[in-house]
Amino acid sequence: MDASRAYSKTDLMRLAIEEHLKCTQFPRVGAVVTKDGIVLSTGHRGERGNLHAERIALEKLSEEDCRGATVYTTLEPCVALHDGQTVGSCAELLVESGVAEVVIGVLDPNATIYSQGYRKLLENNIAVSFFNRKLRAAVEEETFDVGRVDKLVGSGKRRVPVVHSGIELTVHFSESDTRTIPISWRTLQPMHGFVDLGSRNGAIRVAAGVRDFGDVTDPKVFRFPSHYARMTQGMIAIVQPEGCTFYVLIQLLQLFDSDILFRWECRNDR
Ligand SMILES: [Zn+2]
Repeated sequence: MDASRAYSKTDLMRLAIEEHLKCTQFPRVGAVVTKDGIVLSTGHRGERGNLHAERIALEKLSEEDCRGATVYTTLEPCVALHDGQTVGSCAELLVESGVAEVVIGVLDPNATIYSQGYRKLLENNIAVSFFNRKLRAAVEEETFDVGRVDKLVGSGKRRVPVVHSGIELTVHFSESDTRTIPISWRTLQPMHGFVDLGSRNGAIRVAAGVRDFGDVTDPKVFRFPSHYARMTQGMIAIVQPEGCTFYVLIQLLQLFDSDILFRWECRNDR
């Protein structure tokens, strides 16, 4: 890294990733503070005690340096989880420091943090954007000790970023079962209240009028199979590509500015 040179946005994302790769524990987090492409400071989790990467990087700088800076962080900044925390949250610190922009690698899938860091920044007029798709995928794979992040197994709930060209996921019937169904989320239009769920030709049926997985007893009663479904909040779709011996129910729970929350459930086709 050259302290006198102006880096491109992509290079700065890469430098934040280099930082997070220095972490010896999960989750890995790296941060880079910049102004006009010039790197002012860097930080990674584990560099100084239990402090978070964003704090380590910002505390190396003067108040004036922090003001108006752009911070690249590989993981969504944390929020205060309970009153009386000895060290404030990174989202608070970023707001107090007068940072102008935050560029995030991945959103924190932790249900407690649950998009709150991202929202807190926006509410305080900090511009928020995301790493490009390719780098985001790399960060997702390396941040948590959970194996592949594009993998959905059995049933559950997940929040995923649907920025740029969307996200491709693979639904696995169970950890030991090799059967899979490919799905994708794209064309998020939060202002219009929808996001497109995709899969193979004729694989998707909308469970019209159904609001609970328990009310789907026979997926075949739903008509007009398609390669995609335009999903609005609460809507349920059934995905079963031709020849697949199981199907997956997917419900869109919530739409955010750049990401969505959904749940899924795999069922054997009987
Ligand atoms: Zn933090």
